Formats: sequence, C-alpha cells, structure tokens
Amino acid sequence: MSRERRKFFRKLEKEHYTILIPDMCPIQIGILARVLAKDGMNLVVVTPKDRGAKDEGLASIHNDACYPALITCGAFVEALKSGKYDLNHTCVLMTQTGGGCRASNYIALYRKAFEKEFPTVPVLSLNFSGLEKDFSLPIGPKRAINLYMAVLYGDFLMNLVNQSRPYYGDEKTNAALEDCLNALDAEIGHLSFLKIKKNYQMILNRFQELEPPEERKPRVAIVGEIFVKYSPYANNHLKDFLVKQGTEVVEPSLNEFLLYCIYNAINDNRLYGSNKGSVGLYCFAYRKALKLTRQANAMLKGTRFNPFEDFEEIPQNATEVISTGVKMGEGWLIPGEMVTFSKHGIKNIVVVQPFGCLPNHIVGKGMIRPVKERYPDENIVPLDFDASSTQVNQENRLKLMLANIQK
Ligand code: SF4
Repeated sequence: MSRERRKFFRKLEKEHYTILIPDMCPIQIGILARVLAKDGMNLVVVTPKDRGAKDEGLASIHNDACYPALITCGAFVEALKSGKYDLNHTCVLMTQTGGGCRASNYIALYRKAFEKEFPTVPVLSLNFSGLEKDFSLPIGPKRAINLYMAVLYGDFLMNLVNQSRPYYGDEKTNAALEDCLNALDAEIGHLSFLKIKKNYQMILNRFQELEPPEERKPRVAIVGEIFVKYSPYANNHLKDFLVKQGTEVVEPSLNEFLLYCIYNAINDNRLYGSNKGSVGLYCFAYRKALKLTRQANAMLKGTRFNPFEDFEEIPQNATEVISTGVKMGEGWLIPGEMVTFSKHGIKNIVVVQPFGCLPNHIVGKGMIRPVKERYPDENIVPLDFDASSTQVNQENRLKLMLANIQK
C-alpha cells in the first residue's frame, strides 16, 4: 500500500469519517455495512425517499450519463446537502467493476459533480481490480472474506425473503429477517467458512417457522442491469409492485454477478491470452465460490424453498443465443439467466435496463426475440428506467405482462 494511501485511510479511521454508500441490494449492503462497522468504519447506506435525488442527479450530471450514475450521484448530493453530515469528515464510497463499461468511470463523474459544492468530500472506490490505487478501500484477505461472506448470507436471506413476503406479508417476513440479522451480528467481522452451514441452518429454521403456503403464486423473475435490478429506489419499487399484484419474485443472487466477473477473467485468458499472471488465482476463486454457492443450494434441498440456479448452467445456456465473449454491461449473463429460467419452468421474466444503456439493450432487450424463438411460452417484458420515466407507464407495461401471466 502506498504511503499516501496509508496516511489517507489512517486519517479516515482516526477522525471517524462517515462513509456514504448507495442502497443497491438492501439486505446484502446492510450486512456489508455491519462488516465494515466492525472494522471501525461508520458506513451509512443512503436510501432516497422521493424524487429529490433524481432531480439532484439531473442537475449534477449530464443526462446522457448512465441512469445508475445519475441516480447514485443525486442521492449523494441530496444526502450531503441535508445538513446531517459534517462535510469535513464525510466521504462517499462506490463500487467499481473494472470492466470496459461506464460503471468503471462513475467515480470521475462524482468528483466533477462535487468539485464546487463539496470540495472536502473524497470519493472512494471499492474494487478488486486495482483501480483508484490511492483512493480504494484497502482489502486484505480477512476483509475480502468477510465482505464475500456478507454477500453469501445476504443472498441466502434475500432468497428466503422473496419466497416468504408474498405469503406472510411484510410484518412476519421482516421479523424473521431481523431475527436472522441479529443472530448473525455476533459473528460479523470474524465470519468463518466453517460456520456457514450452521448459520444457513439457523436462517432456514427461522423462516421454516412460518406456515407453508397452501398454494404457490406465479413466479416472475427479474433480470437486467445490476443496479436497476436490485435498487428499489432506482426501479421504482418493482419488487413490491409485483408482490402486490399477486406474484412471487425470483431474483438471481448478487454472488451470481461476482461469479460472472470471475468467469469473464478466466474466459479472457482462454479467448485472448490475457490475465496470464492471475488466471490461477481466478480459477481458485471460481471453484471456491461455486462450492459455497452449491453448499447454500444444497441446504434448501427437500424444503419448500427453491434454491438459486446452479451457476455452471448459466454460461452454457447463454451460448444457445450469444457468445460468452460478450461481456460489456451484464453481457451474456442476462440471456443466460433468461434461458436458464425458461428451462426451469419460470415462465414470466421482467428484463430491466437503464434507458440509453447500450450494452444491456443489446444483451437484454435485444436477446428477448432469440430466447422467445426457442422458448415460445415465455412471457417476457423489457422495462426501461431513467430519471424522468413515470412509474405509471412502467406499471401499465407490467400489468399487460401480468394479464398473460403463466403459472
Ligand atoms: S451497464 Fe449500462 S448503465 Fe451500467 S455502466 Fe454500463 S452503460 Fe452504464
């Protein structure tokens, strides 16, 4: 670690900076914030309530920029203007994928947007690709494991919550979720792979206390661009709407996206001979992550809860319609998920993308036709999101899709 970086992060911890992060996957990010809090960091998840953050985003960033960049920047600006934070001791943290997509460049947009009004607020990066060397959160092996475990537990919880909320409502589902988070709390910060089975079982037992539903509702999968897919603020509370319409929502895990990134690094070596020095490490990480994912899925065998799809099937299925060399945005992952859901009997799919997001229009919306040619029974609707799109229009499109819902 460079001297500058060490000095900067020492100051951050010593002076108890508040670190603002955007609310992407509420459960996973919530656990992640608890992990970093155990390391002495004061993380605050910024959850905008009304359209104020969207307007701030439009005022701070050119409206040609990606909607996720615009909305996260707007949320930060709104929070910084709220007067709740000491601007001399606050910074913002954003994940970077390191891919060729614009997600790698959001940070430069934030810095430009903060330049005049919030010059004292540093913009930090959370990435595993060696970007922003002096301003990225230091991630040693222990922290990396803890953060990854936060994702795994968050995914497991999200899956059970999605399969409970339509049947038991908010109160009972949220109570089960809170109980599990509180039980996990004691271990956060020194999470161990050795205890993962025991903790999964604890979570499962709590959710199994809820009476099994008499009849399953039709399932609707959500696939698409990662931020819009998961962030309730960005997607105008899409999940809540679908649940209210009498469906059960199926979401791919966040870990699936991480596996997709690792798979691409290995694939780049196979296709183009790149990553020569690190491919061994990527292969090891891939095998380990796959094993852990399968462990979680195995826990659900024989219960009323459906596991996530097995990751290895997804690139294989993607090749029915696209090459796995296509990796801009969510690349082959979106068509791979669509085909996998189709094969496993999930007949309704919502494909979400930020308006103007070129890669995901090609691999999301653009792939609906080839998927439907192979799986004509699939009921698939594409949905675009931007800062000025109205919720009513989106809900009308969804209602048209729901009118043809397949069980
Ligand atoms: S996937 Fe789309 S929205 Fe996300 S960074 Fe790339 S272009 Fe922007």
